[in-house]
Amino acid sequence: MLTTKTVILKMDCPDTDLLDRTVQAYTEGMNYVSAVVYKLGKPRGSAALQKIVYPTLREQIGLKSQMSCNVVRQVTGTYQTLQKQIKAKKTTWQQITYTPSTMTFSFGRDFTLDRDEIGLTTLEGRRKYHFFRYSHMEQYLDGSWKFGASKLVKHQDGTYYFHLCCERETKTREVMESSTFMGVDVGQTFLAVASTTDKKCRFFCGGKAKDLRNIYSNMRKRLQSKGTRSAKRMLNHLSGRERRLMTDMNHRVSKEIVEFAVQNNVDVIGLEDLSGIRDRTETSKKQRYTHHSWAFFELQSFIEYKAGEKGISTVHVDPAYTSQTCPRCNHISKNNRHRKSFVCECCGHSLHADLIGARNIESRARTYRYTLEVQGCSQPPTRELSTR
Ligand SMILES: [Zn+2]
Repeated sequence: MLTTKTVILKMDCPDTDLLDRTVQAYTEGMNYVSAVVYKLGKPRGSAALQKIVYPTLREQIGLKSQMSCNVVRQVTGTYQTLQKQIKAKKTTWQQITYTPSTMTFSFGRDFTLDRDEIGLTTLEGRRKYHFFRYSHMEQYLDGSWKFGASKLVKHQDGTYYFHLCCERETKTREVMESSTFMGVDVGQTFLAVASTTDKKCRFFCGGKAKDLRNIYSNMRKRLQSKGTRSAKRMLNHLSGRERRLMTDMNHRVSKEIVEFAVQNNVDVIGLEDLSGIRDRTETSKKQRYTHHSWAFFELQSFIEYKAGEKGISTVHVDPAYTSQTCPRCNHISKNNRHRKSFVCECCGHSLHADLIGARNIESRARTYRYTLEVQGCSQPPTRELSTR
């Protein structure tokens, strides 16, 4: 899995005049190339376009060679995206205009990094700029990460920042060769519940943010019933704030979940495949949470991403009846649940009701291996499954 991270470096450059002019010229180049593509009537490949625009970019606009290449690549990219949107009937053929606020650099070609200095190719050749190297950045700058195409960005305060794109290939463990699984159930009474093959479990409540969610949803109801213009404006503002709060919470909780997985030597995390959630009417609580369904998907994707960084794989399992299935005998019934407890009407197995989902997801993730095997997708397991 390719892990990417953007590290924002604050640059210490008292005189921004040269950078301003460089970004300005770069943008001028982008707009020139954009006009050429527009007149051609359809996007061209980078190489073909390069031949047409290169002389003007170099001689008239004064861009350095590498900058010209970046300009062409970036404009080609935008028009390819436009073309896709046209095919999807979302927009029409139009000329794209760029505003001078950012500029792309390629590592090793027109930017270098050395201790606390960034070397940038400007209109007047290579210049070195000091940046503030904080301790939290060390892990990305110690040589274990590669640098990709990065952006020089002028923030609203007039200061330049370098958005350094770091990439690293993380090897995740093969599902077929794994022995310890963990199921994560999202959005029941608790924000998330995790249970491992070794029957270790933990509840994640999301702390204060869960109450906030209720406070906001009440406030929203009050505002909606008012329906005035100022109330509507307030509502939009609220969504933005609420969104940020929930994203913060998702970041925190996903981090805790992955830490818990690491502590318990988990190889694979099972998550519910919620892509069909809107068609399902299994549990009302889950439905209520899906009012915030983006938050739901966000939490899952954060878990996937953070697990990948630690070499832990993730699989998505069928979410049907995870809260009504007996994890011991697989008997499915609504009557298995009695408020806070789960008692299987078939085999008598009993458990805390909030744990059932996570247990079943763990067990489905474990059997996922055999599904792969039957489909001939992978090699047979090399290690026997532990049944501790
Ligand atoms: Zn049972």
